[in-house]
Amino acid sequence: MSRTYDAASSLPVASHNASRCVLSPTEFGLQAWSLLAVAPIIGSFLGVLVRRLPENRPLVWSRSRCETCGAALSIPDLVPVLSWLATRGQCRHCGNRLGLFYPGIEIAALALALIAVTNDERAHAWLDCLLGWWLLALCWIDLRCYMLPDVLTLPLIVFGLLTAALFDPDAMLDRTLGTVFGYLAFLAIAAAYRAVRGREGLGGGDAKMLGAAGAWVGLTALPQVILAASLAALLAAGWLYLSGVRLHAHSALPFGPFIGAALWAVWLFGPISL
Ligand SMILES: [Zn+2]
Repeated sequence: MSRTYDAASSLPVASHNASRCVLSPTEFGLQAWSLLAVAPIIGSFLGVLVRRLPENRPLVWSRSRCETCGAALSIPDLVPVLSWLATRGQCRHCGNRLGLFYPGIEIAALALALIAVTNDERAHAWLDCLLGWWLLALCWIDLRCYMLPDVLTLPLIVFGLLTAALFDPDAMLDRTLGTVFGYLAFLAIAAAYRAVRGREGLGGGDAKMLGAAGAWVGLTALPQVILAASLAALLAAGWLYLSGVRLHAHSALPFGPFIGAALWAVWLFGPISL
């Protein structure tokens, strides 16, 4: 994402909207096709990460064994999505249903890559994908386990500031301030909630996730991430209510997925100019 500076306000303004282009399939460059080709494989690894990281199980690049019968999986069993379709979602050794988790996260990784390569200038699509895939793992872990592991949120902060230093040095101050403000703002809200309600309302992982959001989009755009994430969470709570899920004061809704989705949208499409 490139930024220019608005002469009147001296604030960084996302400028990549102007250069965003929707490519026809024939205009896809090598980078775009490469990202689409590796996306399901990355998705397969993210599936392993989502399942094993919260349980502190060792990470290996691929699923090497059936998680039910322990049978060693062969190479054809490990081809993303296609292996699932070929075996109709069952382990070919024990017949256990493999569920929709792995094809789901593999297709989600592919969908993010498709959105990235069709909506951003080609030179930055790989960065959009890396951020999107990272957030996909974080959000999925939060949905499953109500946690945002430090081992993913803290490197995301470093990674965000590093991309600013390498590709957008003019925005370094804004993104550093965004990191500090995002982290401290959430800590302050969490402390206030604890003082008023006498229990934890927001997890420390959410504060680090918002710090990461600041490191990627900067202080200027951070309020839009917070607003979009909060609105999406309210809509989700409303949808759950209408679906018959009775929410009460002690109901917990993981906030990470909403921050992640809002962050990726603001990163990819740029903050709305007010
Ligand atoms: Zn099996």
